[in-house]
Amino acid sequence: MASTSRPDEASVERLRSHLRGVVITSDHADYDSARSVWNGAIDRRPFVIARPAGTADVITTLAFAREHRLPVAVRGGGHNVAGFATVDDGIVIDLSAMKGIRVDPVARTVRAQGGALWSELDQETQAFGLATTGGLVSSTGIGGFTLGGGIGWLMRKHGVAADNLISADVVTADGELVIADEEGNPELLWGLRGGGGNFGVVTALEYRLHPVGPTVYGGVVFHPVERAGELLRFYSEWTRSLPDELTTMVVFLSAPPEQFIPAEMHGRQMIAVACCHTGTAAEGEESLKALRDFGDPVADVVGPISYSALQGMFDASAPRGIHAYWKTHHLPDLPESAIDTIVAQAAAMTELFPLSAVHLHHVEGAVARGSSDQGAFSHRDSRFVLNLLGQWMQDATADSHISWVRDSWEALRPYATGSPYLNFLGDEGSALARAAYGADTFARLTALKKKYDPTNTFRLNQNIPPA
Ligand SMILES: Cc1cc2nc3c(=O)[nH]c(=O)nc-3n(C[C@H](O)[C@H](O)[C@H](O)COP(=O)(O)OP(=O)(O)OC[C@H]3O[C@@H](n4cnc5c(N)ncnc54)[C@H](O)[C@@H]3O)c2cc1C
Repeated sequence: MASTSRPDEASVERLRSHLRGVVITSDHADYDSARSVWNGAIDRRPFVIARPAGTADVITTLAFAREHRLPVAVRGGGHNVAGFATVDDGIVIDLSAMKGIRVDPVARTVRAQGGALWSELDQETQAFGLATTGGLVSSTGIGGFTLGGGIGWLMRKHGVAADNLISADVVTADGELVIADEEGNPELLWGLRGGGGNFGVVTALEYRLHPVGPTVYGGVVFHPVERAGELLRFYSEWTRSLPDELTTMVVFLSAPPEQFIPAEMHGRQMIAVACCHTGTAAEGEESLKALRDFGDPVADVVGPISYSALQGMFDASAPRGIHAYWKTHHLPDLPESAIDTIVAQAAAMTELFPLSAVHLHHVEGAVARGSSDQGAFSHRDSRFVLNLLGQWMQDATADSHISWVRDSWEALRPYATGSPYLNFLGDEGSALARAAYGADTFARLTALKKKYDPTNTFRLNQNIPPA
């Protein structure tokens, strides 16, 4: 690839005059906030940040990138932990101004532009008592989340977000608009359901919706970390017989300074089980009884809650600008020795408080019943997805957080499939990106890549090289 150079002012001015949206360069007052992403450890300086107002702007911006041979980063909600949504000496196509959302309550579908966030989509769909599987933190973008699979509170009943994607508008590297759905370009739709941002800029996504809430039954049960081994043993068995309406996850975290936690416990390490049941309150209560009766919880804040509030339940734990390094495994099961290892590694995290955490997502249900024919999202047969989250605010502590994540990931490797979950994967190189898919799915994706992006314009992602 030829080296890139900063486009001159006249070229940038031309781009500006052709867009309905905004163009930001380093002399702009908003440059520093515009170049930042969720992960504060990522510090990159693009030549140009374009905020398209619509598809025409995306096409024009891609033409500009081609003309100046600029590396292209595409940004939805900016949450990607690897920081692929920004780039040094290149151009960012930041979709954050494209947030149009239209719900069809009769057909039970929603169509949203690529810059929408889950909080925004949920607000529109919940007005009609509808929802689709979204993220556990409401400021996550629908774009990156869905293209990487998308696990969330509704997944065991309705599949991952990608399973609910029924059509997408995609601007390819050469500026062509392709509409992917089951009737037209079904192979592209298959690839978008888990193949990441490899095929183009997705300017709009359309989803299937389901009746959800507005009130669901859920919340969090907190236990002292000393009970972690017992709780995980219980959890491993209990989750074998849960109804699809109930999705749960285990979290090792620092006790939040909330009224419902005794003051002397604030800031201490705890193990918690978070949950969401989308059936009736009576069904939710019944399904969660064994969990709530287990042991002697420090706090039990489970009950009827609005679905939108539940979707924002973890927002405060993931502020924009936090520094983050994550590593992830698929765990087929939780044998005794895996539980012991998780408990030991979580204990080693104590000094890394209050922001680092371990998340163990129970999957199965509708996710496991899906297949690789449906979409590129892979590894549906693992019972659990594990995410090791090293998170801090000051650079000085970065090394200890990163070492803890790496050590823990290595220690848990014997119990893992060897494949990461794409949405939690950092910038770890091509072997792990490939391992996020099975060999057949990866080969099918490389063929699709060759068709839609043969020169690998969209390579700032978990990259699929053209076949
Ligand atoms: C606090 C937090 C909570 C999270 N919770 C969950 C969770 O519950 N479940 C889960 O599965 N994941 C979760 N994630 C991971 C998240 O799904 C991924 O980081 C995802 O990439 C975020 O999407 P985004 O649009 O916000 O990110 P961005 O950083 O904007 O985008 C990530 C990448 O996706 C591609 N992309 C994004 N939008 C488009 C588009 N419109 N067209 C083409 N390519 C695009 C680009 O390649 C881009 O580099 C979480 C992440 C964070 C930081």
